[in-house]
Amino acid sequence: MPENKPTPKPWTPTPYAVTENPQAYGIDTRLVRGGLTRSNQNEMTEALYLTQAFVYDTAEEAVAKFSGDLPGFMYSRYGNPTLDMFEKRLAAVEGAEMCHGTASGMAAVFASMASFLNAGDHVVAARALFGSCFYILNTIFPRWGISVSFVHGPDLAAWQAAMRPNTRAVFLETPANPTLELIDIAAVAKIAHANGAKLVVDNVFATPLLQKPLELGADIVVYSATKHIDGQGRCLGGAVLSDAKFCAETLLPFLRHSGPALSPFNAWMLLKGMETLALRVERAQATALRLATFLQGQSSGGQAKIARVLYPGLDSFPQRELAQRQMSGGGTLVAFELKGGRAAAFGLMNALQVIDISNNLGDSKSIITHPFTTTHRAIDEADRIKMGITDGLVRLSVGLESAEDLERDLAMGLG
Ligand SMILES: *Cc1c(COP(=O)(O)O)cnc(C)c1O
Repeated sequence: MPENKPTPKPWTPTPYAVTENPQAYGIDTRLVRGGLTRSNQNEMTEALYLTQAFVYDTAEEAVAKFSGDLPGFMYSRYGNPTLDMFEKRLAAVEGAEMCHGTASGMAAVFASMASFLNAGDHVVAARALFGSCFYILNTIFPRWGISVSFVHGPDLAAWQAAMRPNTRAVFLETPANPTLELIDIAAVAKIAHANGAKLVVDNVFATPLLQKPLELGADIVVYSATKHIDGQGRCLGGAVLSDAKFCAETLLPFLRHSGPALSPFNAWMLLKGMETLALRVERAQATALRLATFLQGQSSGGQAKIARVLYPGLDSFPQRELAQRQMSGGGTLVAFELKGGRAAAFGLMNALQVIDISNNLGDSKSIITHPFTTTHRAIDEADRIKMGITDGLVRLSVGLESAEDLERDLAMGLG
């Protein structure tokens, strides 16, 4: 080794108590301090490492890093200190052994399954899915010789009947978009595992706070961090969480070489988003319950404008027992159906002065959508109706505005 070059030094993050042993701390502490490491400048807030690569002090150090003998960062497609903090924080909140960030929620969904499926494999999935998830399963995977069966999520017998000897993945979203239909995660996990398949759960609607799929038996959890985790409409992001073995041996090589890397800047925003996640979700959820109760009040009597209100926190919710069993709250989304069909739905949406028309969700700004004509328009009309997505259905993502202003906006819109 040349004398004028320092010897290779491993990257040794300063040990912080919450980072070292997050499960010894409450969820709010993990949201604020989980995964924190500081540079030798001892900055208060998480440092933003806007760099594509890292340099080596010596040629020998480069050899040691490439061979894996020396830990540390090499290239931001492989890993980055800001991203590392985001991943450790979300893993600590979820209670997962490992987390990997991705550029978007869809990159997370795709990688969670494409990383381990092979031609000839079979997937069973719930029919009620986010549109792009449905596209991956219904269009991309079959092109690669992976067959997919879709089932009605709440029907456990249908999951059982759809399993085949080559079923390797089971995929579902609960609560599902936009009807908030629930699927019994523990029961589907049992069916999947009896067949040697992995259960992948898209947990976006429940957030990491209101539902714990890994504790209920899921093998992999995916998020669009674009939604509640950022929650302020600033960036896209996603994450896949699972056990260390799957992440290290299967997921990480797939992500490193296919490249859906999360930008360090977006990872930094998501870290900051997590600090207020519980406060935001709790407030939006309290307002969602108030608005759902108000809307339900508009569904009875001769002049009733609303046919039904779907919110897992209402006693009238069709799957209320399951909601109480697997979720710790009703969430921040409310769906309701107007008696007057599309004309009434558009009339309401166009009259709103506070609530925006958009297709995002989990944002600090309240948002309304008409799934039948936008997010779910690609699904065959008969299937849409079967899924409860009628032309009078609207989905409301409840934000952080004053509850009384939102209620007044809806009351005014309903006329
Ligand atoms: C938004 C969303 C996705 C996709 O996330 P992006 O960050 O937009 O790529 C996946 N699943 C669900 C349930 C979503 O709401």
